[in-house]
Amino acid sequence: MSHETALSSQLFERAKRIIPAGVNSPVRAFGSVGGTPPFIASASGAILTDADGNEYVDLVGSWGPMILGHANPQVVEAVREAAGRGLSYGAPQAGEISLVEEVARRMAPIEKLRLVNSGTEATMSALRVARAATGRDVIVKFAGCYHGHVDALLAEAGSGVATFAMPGSAGVTASTAADTVVVPYGDREAVRELFARRGGEIAAIITEAAPANMGVVPPADGTDLRDGGEGIGFNRFLAETAHAAGALLITDEVLTGFRASAGGYYGIDGDGWAPDLMTFGKVIGGGLPVGAFGGRADLMDLLAPLGPVYQAGTLSGNPLATAAGMATFEGLDEAAYAHLDRASAQLQALVADALAAEGVAHTIQTAGTLFSVFFRDEPVRTYEDAKDQDTAAFGRFFHSLLDSGIYLPPSAFEAWFVSTAHDDQILDRIGAALPAAAKAAAR
Ligand code: PLP
Repeated sequence: MSHETALSSQLFERAKRIIPAGVNSPVRAFGSVGGTPPFIASASGAILTDADGNEYVDLVGSWGPMILGHANPQVVEAVREAAGRGLSYGAPQAGEISLVEEVARRMAPIEKLRLVNSGTEATMSALRVARAATGRDVIVKFAGCYHGHVDALLAEAGSGVATFAMPGSAGVTASTAADTVVVPYGDREAVRELFARRGGEIAAIITEAAPANMGVVPPADGTDLRDGGEGIGFNRFLAETAHAAGALLITDEVLTGFRASAGGYYGIDGDGWAPDLMTFGKVIGGGLPVGAFGGRADLMDLLAPLGPVYQAGTLSGNPLATAAGMATFEGLDEAAYAHLDRASAQLQALVADALAAEGVAHTIQTAGTLFSVFFRDEPVRTYEDAKDQDTAAFGRFFHSLLDSGIYLPPSAFEAWFVSTAHDDQILDRIGAALPAAAKAAAR
């Protein structure tokens, strides 16, 4: 380490005595890259400051929500103002309506939406609705897609599950796992074969609208005929296959929603098809704990107290969270997306140039403004491909950047997150640190 980290080290030791691995979400522990995670004391714009006073350019953005940068003045002011009116009511408040109306305005398939407190709750609740609506038990998911730590969805998931090379999770019962069928991502033949065999048992297919938790692996679009696409994109193929069998399609936009584009990933490939249910999180809460699930009104009206599907939350629709979400949406205008697009493209070019200069195998893949860097030369289409990369080279690259004050996601399986606060000066700082990091990766 080229900078002082004594206070973060002390905090990490103290945390480990009382919090498992010292963290409240596994990837934060730096398990796959080693070393001590900086403990963050404050954040502003694109910069994190740790307990020792070191500054880092942040490319994690709290794993997606901080799309307007940290401590964005409008968002902070909205939260401050809301806090002055009380922290939680456990009763309806107008901010909930504004936030769900805004999501529905930007996302055509949303007829009704309910707010929860995390992406995990959103996918869990969507599965429950799908099972109730169809009277069927089986859920189809794709290897490498992460949908939160829902029991039924931990099989062959990405994100932290990928980072630690876990097949799933202990503590998930055999009967729960038996109701989840995992299919290789993008494999139309496997999907067809599964539906031919078990179509009558399948409640829903759930897929990330564009997988981003094994790195970014965009679905084949209608022009991509390599996988027998017959002119229709993979997501549309899933919708048609599910519907033909009386099953539902759930697209998970917790990560891609309002980040891949103004209309999420659906805004990029939602032509001629619609999911039945969608899930959201991250950006819609602007950094406070929010998730949402919604879609067809007839399905959402199955929820209690209208219908038989129970779902609830003490803090759901929290007034601070809805204020932060609305203030974030207010900042997400056309200019913001143009900025995100430009910053993402410039950063990709900087990384590609630096790695190419040192002969480091790499592939950059995108889904709208989202991107990730794989440490291998060939394209990544499946979870198997994603696992076949040089994670040791990534670890050296990561630590060199950290030493130079650049904070990447501490895993080779994660997307990189830019914000509207990533301006030319910030990109220059990253650009200056990249050559040494590429050299370290090449070693
Ligand atoms: N779905 C996707 C696509 C995600 O990326 C995530 C989190 O990274 C989740 C669901 C779970 O969201 P949360 O961590 O808020 O529970």
